[in-house]
Parts: sequence; structure tokens; C-alpha cells
Amino acid sequence: MSIAGNLSAIKEDLKSKKVTLVAVSKTFPVEAIQEAYKSGQRVFGENRVQELVSKYEVLPKDIEWHLIGHLQTNKVKFIAPFISLIHSIDSLKLLEETNKEALKNNRVIDCLLQIYIAKEETKFGLDFEETKALLNSRIYAALKNIRIVGLMGMATNTPDSAIVRNEFNNLRTFFDELKNSFFNNTPSFKEISIGMSGDYKMAVEEGSTMIRVGSSIFGLR
Ligand SMILES: *Cc1c(COP(=O)(O)O)cnc(C)c1O
Repeated sequence: MSIAGNLSAIKEDLKSKKVTLVAVSKTFPVEAIQEAYKSGQRVFGENRVQELVSKYEVLPKDIEWHLIGHLQTNKVKFIAPFISLIHSIDSLKLLEETNKEALKNNRVIDCLLQIYIAKEETKFGLDFEETKALLNSRIYAALKNIRIVGLMGMATNTPDSAIVRNEFNNLRTFFDELKNSFFNNTPSFKEISIGMSGDYKMAVEEGSTMIRVGSSIFGLR
């Protein structure tokens, strides 16, 4: 199917649900993004800073760019002027650096904390205790140019959907715990970024508010 056709099929699945579709365009050329843009898509996700910046420079400025991949502190400065949402905050140090660069740009940058939910050593993310320690820290309390608007998780890469569903559910439960404690009376803390091409329907059933879909829109990488 075409990119436009793929997009409308996914939107049909999301019908009547408040779920943001992040079109993951990593490795695909600018022309593919333009095609999705023409059919109305405005939110795009990239996992590498350099690729994100070079696409940002040539594409329409009403695109909302999301950084979904691991971010090194020395690269924050390249995306700070324009990034809409960073999904992959996995340390206090990275959050501090994002705050510093946001301040330089006179912005408040929205961020998600990436939570470690998979049973794979290779995945990045904070565990539950590290997350609470971060939120309790004085350093975090002093950061005025970042806003934590939710959590992101990557499930184990396995064909066993029961494992994936359980991991999504764990993240959702942890989100609710934070919502009722640290983020009580904070309506902006509302996003749960879970679900990719293979599992977004299940993620939405488990409470996802933001799905990150690449290959089901653009094809195989
Ligand atoms: C590549 C990527 C996706 C999209 O994966 P698909 O299986 O192609 O939908 C989602 N999230 C992250 C963090 C990614 O790196």
C-alpha cells in the first residue's frame, strides 16, 4: 500500500481514541516524509540527531519533530531550538543538559522519561526507583526550562505478546502511581508513549496515548 493508504488504515484503528500517531521516518528519505505530510501527517519521529536536523532544515516548519532514540548530552544543543518532544530522557544529567539548552533558546522543552520495562540488557531507560529518585531530587526541582509530560517505554522484542502486554501494563501502572503522587494536579503529565508497528493496537488497549509507528507506514527498513 501507499504511505497515504497506510496512514489512513492506522488512523482508522485509532478512530475515536485520543492517541497521537508519531510517524517514525528514520532511514527514510525526505520524499517519503513529504508524501506523509501531503496526506495530513504533522508529527514525525527520528532516532538520530544528525538525521533529524538535516530533515528539519529542508521540510515545512509546521512539522512537530520528536526525538525517540538515545540522546547523548553533547548533541542536545543541535535539536534544542526546535524539538517538540524528547521521548528518551534516561538520566538526570541529560535532563539538566536539555534544560540548559532550552534556556539558551528561551524555550521550555517537553520531555518524556524513558522507563526500562524490557527484559533486555541492551535497552536504555530508568528503572522505577531511579525515576522516583530523579523526581525527588533538588536538581530536578530547580529545572525551569523542561517539562516532563509523561513516560516512554520500549517492550522486549519478542513474538510472545503476553510478555509485551505485561510490560505495557507495568508502565501504565507506574504512570498512574506517578500521576497520583509527583504529578498530582499536573494536567500536562498525560502521555504514555508505547506501541510500535507490531504492537500498537495492544499498546492502545493498555493505555497508550502516543504510538511510534515506522515500518507500517513507510515500509521495511
Ligand atoms: C524505530 C523505532 C520505532 C518504530 O518501529 P517500527 O517497528 O518500524 O514501527 C519506535 N520507537 C523507537 C524508539 C524506534 O527506534
